[in-house]
Amino acid sequence: MKTEKKCSNCGEWTTWDKLPTDRCTHCNDLLDPRAHKEKEEREEKERLFKENDFFRVREDDSFLMVTVRKVGWILHAVFAAITWAFLWFVTTFSG
Ligand SMILES: [Zn+2]
Repeated sequence: MKTEKKCSNCGEWTTWDKLPTDRCTHCNDLLDPRAHKEKEEREEKERLFKENDFFRVREDDSFLMVTVRKVGWILHAVFAAITWAFLWFVTTFSG
């Protein structure tokens, strides 16, 4: 929905879609720099999270790579289960 907003940079009224990416039609300044910054930070966080996830199967992965990631994920899960069982064992029988 389009509305109007007074630009905080040049003071002119400009159209505003209430989106973080909206810019002033007069000076091309961001109308809501804080929202824009938050949006970029959120997207950057999501991007890093996805890139760092080794077990996520990517679209351009070969069959071998998909297998490696799936086996890796299973080993990771097994390792986590062993660690968890070990911790449970230690905390349960150590007293
Ligand atoms: Zn402006």
